[in-house]
Amino acid sequence: MTQQLVLDERDAPAWTEETDVIVVGLGCAGAATALEASAAGAETLVLERASGGGGTSALSGGVLYLGGGTAVQQGAGFEDSAEAMFQYLMAACGPAPDEAKAAAYSEESVAHFDWFVAQGLDFSPVFYPHYSGEPPTDDGLVFSGSEGAWPYVEIAKPAPRGHCPKIPGAAGGLLMQKLCAAVATSPARVVTDARCDALIRASDGTIQGLVARVDGATRSIRARGGVVLTTGGFIHNDTMLDLHAPELRRCNIRVGAEGDDGSGIQMGNAAGAATLNMGMGSISLPIHPPKSVSRGVLVNGQGQRFVNEDRYMGLLGEQVLYHQDGTAFLLFDDANFERPAMPRDLLAVGETWDEVGQELGLPPGALEATMRLYNDAAKHEQDPAFHKRPPYVVPLDQPPFGALDCRVESSPFAAFTLGGLHTNEWGEVLTPAGEPLPGLYGAGRATSGLAAPGYSSGLSLGDGSFFGRRAGRRAAEQRRS
Ligand SMILES: Cc1cc2nc3c(=O)[nH]c(=O)nc-3n(C[C@H](O)[C@H](O)[C@H](O)COP(=O)(O)OP(=O)(O)OC[C@H]3O[C@@H](n4cnc5c(N)ncnc54)[C@H](O)[C@@H]3O)c2cc1C
Repeated sequence: MTQQLVLDERDAPAWTEETDVIVVGLGCAGAATALEASAAGAETLVLERASGGGGTSALSGGVLYLGGGTAVQQGAGFEDSAEAMFQYLMAACGPAPDEAKAAAYSEESVAHFDWFVAQGLDFSPVFYPHYSGEPPTDDGLVFSGSEGAWPYVEIAKPAPRGHCPKIPGAAGGLLMQKLCAAVATSPARVVTDARCDALIRASDGTIQGLVARVDGATRSIRARGGVVLTTGGFIHNDTMLDLHAPELRRCNIRVGAEGDDGSGIQMGNAAGAATLNMGMGSISLPIHPPKSVSRGVLVNGQGQRFVNEDRYMGLLGEQVLYHQDGTAFLLFDDANFERPAMPRDLLAVGETWDEVGQELGLPPGALEATMRLYNDAAKHEQDPAFHKRPPYVVPLDQPPFGALDCRVESSPFAAFTLGGLHTNEWGEVLTPAGEPLPGLYGAGRATSGLAAPGYSSGLSLGDGSFFGRRAGRRAAEQRRS
């Protein structure tokens, strides 16, 4: 029997309780929503289907993409401005970035950082230069995108914006520990083992509440202000992936907790919401660290270069999966050979680039031609095709030569979904006509956020919490008797 994802009010079970705002899912976006809705005076109920809060957010690296001159950026000696951040986001999150979201996020980013500090998170004002994800130290700032790489470096003044809570390594657990503790001491009420199954809709289309299974019993809960869906993405729903994002099924690391099955997106969609960027994902091709791996050269299945190798691993992954049919090889010579920290198989070795190309099955002569062109310019520290930065532009002309596997099916590629319910910059869920769907809000990976495509590390927790707070406020404002 197909589960009904939306019920007309007249057919729904009688209300068992009511509140002002219902938040569905207690990850980073849900916690931020609940904190802000309850701070605005709304009676707030959080339903979480697991036995505790955290979701994928608790498994994450905890990097938050924030900027514009935060205390951490200033303390670490970096200048940044809301304008530079906006310009970067507009350039990176293309081809159709959400200008209103990028503007709001950039303008209020310093205040959003301060909000995290107010929730009990501590950040060390120290820059970690070696990696674009969470550092192994408790340093608080990294370059977590492609700000310093071409073409972005020519568009916006670069600044590191990856903010890392003060703990060595992955900080997602600490982040969610603090946010869940803040929710627990707020007036918001959390009910766990509570799965939302369907939305309830009035005859005029307004979302009135929802049906949930709580400890095995059916509850029908009315929301006087609105329902906020913060249920995460859909990387663990094969049917949705087949339908919307089949490329992501090719990636061999699926990044997400088991709750990422798209239930919120499906409910919102059934209730009349539009979706956006459903085919897009964050796809990491982790060839760094160490950063010196950028001295290698990436080629596609035709033996041709296609990108500057010093870009953030998320943009490299997007390039390979979406534009090179998932096939790439990372080339080195003997003098510059460097193993990425995440192991990759050595697929071919040869005394000439032609030998390597033959072993890889590339078109005859292709690799020789590519590397001749690259090396000729690299001797002058130039990369006229893709403008890789000078420290990484060196001739690869010392045999033996080798190629590491960067193909999507056989080497590490990590993916999570970026598409979801279409929302505006206030967290209101939109209809296909672009109108707010009354009573329904969303944030985090249940929605299509800032980066789809063009992911920089920290944008998911960052935009989820930022637009979650806005959704919580907006739903609180709308409460009626
Ligand atoms: C290893 C790893 C590293 C990462 N590193 C980073 C990073 O450094 N920075 C960054 O920005 N992003 C990172 N990400 C991605 C990021 O963690 C997620 O995109 C983000 O946590 C999504 O947050 P969310 O609040 O939307 O969803 P989640 O945190 O997944 O929360 C959703 C919650 O909703 C609940 N739920 C789902 N359906 C229902 C339902 N029907 N009823 C009730 N409850 C429901 C789930 O159980 C879950 O608790 C990383 C991810 C992983 C796995």
